[in-house]
Amino acid sequence: MADQQQGQQAKLKLKRRRRKKVCFFCVEKINVLDYKNTALVKRFVSDRGKILPRRNSGTCAKHQRMIANAVKRSRYLGILPYSVD
Ligand SMILES: [Zn+2]
Repeated sequence: MADQQQGQQAKLKLKRRRRKKVCFFCVEKINVLDYKNTALVKRFVSDRGKILPRRNSGTCAKHQRMIANAVKRSRYLGILPYSVD
């Protein structure tokens, strides 16, 4: 049990040490995310239709907000699903 816990802690350490992802939008210098650009919006949505958290997508706060708005807008318009079963 203690060994297992140690193994898990080692795993966590490894994860923490991984290279910090940089924000896709900052790199590409994109400052508007069009909700009609489904291909791009979909990159930040999980296969179940959920918006990927910042820790997964690596986007900065500003651009994560932009993604969230775009996703919500396209959901409302029926371009993206609210949830996938
Ligand atoms: Zn950014």
